[in-house]
This record gives sequence, structure tokens and C-alpha cells, in this order.
Amino acid sequence: MSEAVPEAQSLGSGVHLVPAPLPFKSPQWVNTYAIEADGGLLLLDCGTDWEAGRQALRDGFRRLGLDEAQVHTLVVSHLHPDHVGMSARLVGELGCRFVMHERAAQLVSRYNDTPGYVERLLRIGSAHGVPARLLDSVTEDLATRPGYMPMIEPPDHTVLDGDTIDLGAGRWLEVIHTPGHEQSHICLRDSRTGVFFSGDHVLPRISPVIMWDEGLEDPLGSYLTSLERLLGMELKLTYPAHGTLIERGDERARQILLHHDRRLLDMAELVSSHDSTAWDVMVESFRPNLTPIEARLAFLETVSHLEHLRATGRLNTEQRDGVVVFRR
Ligand SMILES: [Zn+2]
Repeated sequence: MSEAVPEAQSLGSGVHLVPAPLPFKSPQWVNTYAIEADGGLLLLDCGTDWEAGRQALRDGFRRLGLDEAQVHTLVVSHLHPDHVGMSARLVGELGCRFVMHERAAQLVSRYNDTPGYVERLLRIGSAHGVPARLLDSVTEDLATRPGYMPMIEPPDHTVLDGDTIDLGAGRWLEVIHTPGHEQSHICLRDSRTGVFFSGDHVLPRISPVIMWDEGLEDPLGSYLTSLERLLGMELKLTYPAHGTLIERGDERARQILLHHDRRLLDMAELVSSHDSTAWDVMVESFRPNLTPIEARLAFLETVSHLEHLRATGRLNTEQRDGVVVFRR
């Protein structure tokens, strides 16, 4: 079901919400936030690079009486195309400073490397029992890099956990590194209002996908730790990167923790009843008839859950004919 992208609106305390449509079935838009800072504006996230998204930013700013030329800083919450995709174009047009977490800066070349991504997906897929015909379709689907995610440039400035981004007049954004959904993910906390800009870390209705990738040890473990950490930080009014504003971020975070607990339990039981590859578990855990993109995300999410069960000693693995089999 398709929903209308909401209108841009001011949220008070110098914060403005400018939603930008995305070329996906879900999520259908990204929330960018224009925050008044030092006589200008800081923009948090920018959406994918396509004309509808670019126009939505222009229209949203105009509707709110804001001037895009005032944007002196673009901060991205993490390195996914729906957040960083348009960065090169915006930085070029507006001449603004570009800020991300230091880990993101290290991953820019990987973000720009589509063939490398396909190779990693194929290795992960064949190691975890994905049928060969589906692996072939991955190669076909991803043969050309989508136009909405052109190459991005490295940042002008990087931040680390605990750093602050100054907004002027004794106000700042505190950087909280929240790896899990993506290694470089950051949330920002407004020192004046206590509002959390949660990126994709805490979302209403959906739980952010935790994708397995080579070089990661336990991304789901990182995600759960990052969520629990926020619960110790008075997480109340939360402005997420997708969907509607969240009144009680702490309650939403607890729901997401429960969701993962349940899924971990279900997958552990499934593997206890019969040894399984990650592909077997994915097929039994998710609804049938997923689109290719949905199937890819569901599969990588399944590997993350199984690897977390292994990392926490609840499952073992063995290699059978070059394929990883999970067992009790
Ligand atoms: Zn997102």
C-alpha cells in the first residue's frame, strides 16, 4: 500500500522536518531534518539522488520559509543510499561541509564499489546455502549501479562517539555511535531539548534490518548493545529517519529488543529440531514470495541472527561440502 509522503513541517526549537521520497516500495520516504545552527542550517541526512528527492528538499525548504543557501553543514546518520545518496550533489550545489562518523569515512570506498559488493554477496550466499539460480539473479540484478546511488565523496570532517557538533548559542548535538544497522551509524542528541535524532537505529513500526557482511563479527550483538545503551540515556521524544515521530523512544526500543529476542528464540528452536543452513532458516522464518531485494535483506538478517546465536554460545556450526550448517 502506498502512503503519501508527508508535508515539510517545523517541529519547534529550530528544528524542521523535510521528508524526501525514495525510489523504493519501503520505506517510501526519508526524514531529513534542517536544524538552525549558528545563523545557518545543518541538514541531517539527504535521501537518494533522484529528481523527486531533490525537488522535495527545494519545495520543503520553500514551504518553511528556509533558504537552502543557508545550509552550511550536511551530516549523515550512516552510509546507506537513502541517507547519503544525494550527498555529492548537495555538497556540490550548496558548498556545505560534509560530516560523518569516522568509521563511515573508512567505508566510503566500499560504498562506491558495486562489483566488490556483488562479490561479497555471492561469497556469503554460497557459504550459507543460497541456491545457485538465486545467486545468478543477484549478479544480474546488481550488474549496474542504480542511478539513485552515484559515487559519494569522502567527508570534510569526521566525528566520534561523545563528540559534539556545535549549533551556536550554547547548544550542540551530542554524537552517539550506535553500530548495528550499519557500522558507522550515529544518533544525535539535542543538548537543549533532549530530543534524539535516531536515524535508522530506532524506527516506528519496522525494526531496522541488521545485515550480515564480511568483516563483521556480530552485528546483531552490536545493535542490541547500542539499543540498550540508549535506554540508559533518557530516550524520550525521538525523531527517526523514516516514518512518524516517536513520543517514547524508550518504549519503542524495548519493543524492538523483544522482537529480536523472539526471533532469536524461534531460530534457535528451528535449528534444534534439525541442522540447517542460514538459507533453510530464512525460508522457514519469513513469508514466501519475497521480492529479490526483500529476500536478500531477509537472508542477511537471518545470517546475523544465527551468527549472534553462535557468538553467544547457543548454536554451533560445521562445514559440510563448503556450506556452513548451524546445529545445536
Ligand atoms: Zn534508512
